[in-house]
Amino acid sequence: MVRCRNGKIVATIGPSSHDFEKLEQLHLAGVDVFRLNFSHSSYEEHTKVYNAIRAIGRKHHTFSTILADLQGPKLRIGAFTDGKVFLEVGDVLRLDLNSTPGDKQRVYIPHPEILSALYPGAVVLMDDGKLKFEVTSCSEDHANLKVLVGGTLSDRKGVSVPDVKLPIPALTEKDLKDLDFVLKLGVDWIALSFVQIVEDIEEAKNIIKGRAGVVSKLEKPVAIKNLEPIVAASDAIMVARGDLGVEMDQEELPSIQRNIVKTCRRLGKPVIVATQMLESMITSPIPTRAEVSDIANASYQYADATMLSAETAAGKYPLEAVTIMDKIIKKTEQDPSRIISLEDINISPHVSDIDSLCAAAKIMAEYSSAKAIILFAGVFETIVRCSRFRPHCPIIFITDSTELACKSGLCNGVYAFFAEGIALTDEATFSIARATCLERKFADIGDKVIILNSIKETIAIRNI
Ligand code: PEP
Repeated sequence: MVRCRNGKIVATIGPSSHDFEKLEQLHLAGVDVFRLNFSHSSYEEHTKVYNAIRAIGRKHHTFSTILADLQGPKLRIGAFTDGKVFLEVGDVLRLDLNSTPGDKQRVYIPHPEILSALYPGAVVLMDDGKLKFEVTSCSEDHANLKVLVGGTLSDRKGVSVPDVKLPIPALTEKDLKDLDFVLKLGVDWIALSFVQIVEDIEEAKNIIKGRAGVVSKLEKPVAIKNLEPIVAASDAIMVARGDLGVEMDQEELPSIQRNIVKTCRRLGKPVIVATQMLESMITSPIPTRAEVSDIANASYQYADATMLSAETAAGKYPLEAVTIMDKIIKKTEQDPSRIISLEDINISPHVSDIDSLCAAAKIMAEYSSAKAIILFAGVFETIVRCSRFRPHCPIIFITDSTELACKSGLCNGVYAFFAEGIALTDEATFSIARATCLERKFADIGDKVIILNSIKETIAIRNI
């Protein structure tokens, strides 16, 4: 199985896709990274999906990447006596610490730390931003909220406080339990929700201890304010446009996405653009024109990956959604005007020896019309730095490390192949490169390839 596409596809798994056959179809249709969402499903279900994905990889001699997405500190109100209330503009709703069911006048909020952080004039949003309130008065044990945008509010809806830096840990008790579980399972990446500051990432990394990469989900305005240090501290980034679009004005999202993707490419961190990419395909087999443009736009920005959420987890057309995303990315990548030069990457060319080698590989591949860059690397950092230059041709990463092979699946343009006990002499690397290219149809006899051996710090153009 060969993918002729550099941008990667992340698909969230759920009831529409969790059977072995569906997972296999999705993988063959183009899914590179499978996302297990820990806001849903039991450990038993996640384990079944994990084992199926690994078995599919063994069956097709490919490496799929598995990303576990932790729920994070999602804030919610309690329940109402009648399940819901209707709030009109000008009504006042009291949030308090009384756990009995609420009514039109009051409702329980099981998060005293929110009450302590609120202040008169702060904006509170509920139910994905559908209802909007302003705090009129508050204390340690309650807050009175005036309704600015009304509507129906039902049990346990989510609460956001966009302008407030909440004194809450990035990892809840549930996250810590889930983290322990996914580390034992052996996932490749772990996504942290609602990251606010660098310390949130450090706390998780202290527990993970390099056993998986850390993806920071950017979904809070405060994280956007701390963008550069957060990207630098993370192993990868997700532009989580769903929650970000609740907490910020939606018209700000396009420029924020562009800036995040650029920052990630500059700092050499894989970046995923997520949420509502093919939202209409939850119920329709055909996407809207705007959705097609949205995916192409992420590809023009050179994001590493684009993500499907409910489209593949709970939608009616998971396979169609992946097939369409695959086609859009491939088509966009064929646009000659999309090719970028080193200057576009806007980085100092002498950051490190590895950067010099990777930059050279990109230029050599372009000037020699090489069909592939064959990469031998011993650490993940080299793979992302090579990918960061976005060469026009695929980066074929040959490794004897299953762990690095699986992890590299998130990186733009990188395709991993396994070779046991690789000798790193020029002739041995050429011989494996040649065999892999011919077998996997990345190149034909007579085609040029670039061989980048970062362990020995050598680079060469060779004819297959
Ligand atoms: C998002 O908010 O865009 C997102 C990806 O997060 P989740 O799906 O976990 O809410």
